[in-house]
Amino acid sequence: MDLQFDRQHIWHPYTSALNPLPCYGVERTENVYLHLSSGEKLIDGMASWWSAIHGYNHPQLCQAAHQQIDTMSHVMFGGLTHQPAISLCQSLLDMAPQGLNRVFLADSGSVSVEVAMKMALQYWACQGNPNKHKFLTPRNGYHGDTFAAMSVCDPVNGMHSLFSQALPEQIFAPAPQTRFGQVWNEDDIQPLAELMERHHHQIAALILEPVVQGAGGMRIYHPQYLRRARQLCDEYNILLIADEIATGFGRTGKLFACEHADISPDILCVGKALTGGMMTLAATLCSEDVAVGVCQGQPGVFMHGPTFMGNPLACAVANASLSILQQGHWQTQVNTIEAQLKEQLLPLTALPSVADTRVLGAIGVVECKTPVDVAQIQRRCISRGAWVRPFGKLVYIMPPYIIDSAQLAQLVDSIAFALSD
Ligand SMILES: *Cc1c(COP(=O)(O)O)cnc(C)c1O
Repeated sequence: MDLQFDRQHIWHPYTSALNPLPCYGVERTENVYLHLSSGEKLIDGMASWWSAIHGYNHPQLCQAAHQQIDTMSHVMFGGLTHQPAISLCQSLLDMAPQGLNRVFLADSGSVSVEVAMKMALQYWACQGNPNKHKFLTPRNGYHGDTFAAMSVCDPVNGMHSLFSQALPEQIFAPAPQTRFGQVWNEDDIQPLAELMERHHHQIAALILEPVVQGAGGMRIYHPQYLRRARQLCDEYNILLIADEIATGFGRTGKLFACEHADISPDILCVGKALTGGMMTLAATLCSEDVAVGVCQGQPGVFMHGPTFMGNPLACAVANASLSILQQGHWQTQVNTIEAQLKEQLLPLTALPSVADTRVLGAIGVVECKTPVDVAQIQRRCISRGAWVRPFGKLVYIMPPYIIDSAQLAQLVDSIAFALSD
């Protein structure tokens, strides 16, 4: 593998082109494993960034891809439709929180967030309320890398100062403070309530990641925050956008994290695990009220339509992934992972370099006292057969649901080894 060419010519995510982090060649995958070209076999603690929930090369997903590619890989979605998209949207509406009734298929998570934000803006504009054009969002959020999505990412982590001239200015609330499992403190919602009271005439929607804030800090907060946020949105006539791109499809122990609070958003974004990690696909779901509001008056249509919208190949694989989920084994798998992480990962708080550990569902987080040396942690984990991708002070894992207890123990041990002196 010509890693030298890669190093000299290819951008990788969040990486310097001039002085890139070491990059490892992967030859093939199977089960929970990445096989490197250098011969190592690594347990993927990241499930390829939350996506490969059923493990790699799952026979049902591969079969769905083969079958679809031989039938019809792609057709435009403008004026045409097909069974893979219809089946997928039926399943999504069946599985998603109640009240969501329309599906917009998007090609990546960031695009589904753009679509959600655009829906909210167009909704209010079509109601004769164009002043409602700002978004309210808790700090420490992450919603993607495109421009509208960037504008609602944490202003510090998201490096807003770099783009301050180019990004729309949004309204930031303090991040939720009460942790999942702690006693709820009603003071925690006050700043959000005050911002809504002060700015609701200008606010189109509140956008947040339900219960688990992912790439903006891996924070796990009290579902009552979400329940109160839903009530406040209703009170102040603000739409609620739930970004479940990371949390959706069982990761937090519920099929959708909104279920921890028994709430439904007006608009829901899903992505990442939608195709079981096989290819890119995302979706924006909305209520009938939002769809009607968007399409009333002028221009009467929703102004968005990616070239590869509803790609049949991706839809077919997503259908296979959702049907595996519908068999229901994910619930036991995720509960089992959670129990083991509580037993084996939470005690890493005792390491001198560790500030905090936290677990929810199949997510385990180790927060260090200072930013970690990513290249060194990766090297040390690889030497113990594990793949992780830390950022800042955070070393975290969200393994495939099919991981067995020996593999999970090895993953946690390798992190403990990497973080000890
Ligand atoms: C990953 C992620 C996104 C962006 O999805 P992409 O497919 O990378 O564009 C948006 N929101 C959340 C919560 C995510 O975790």
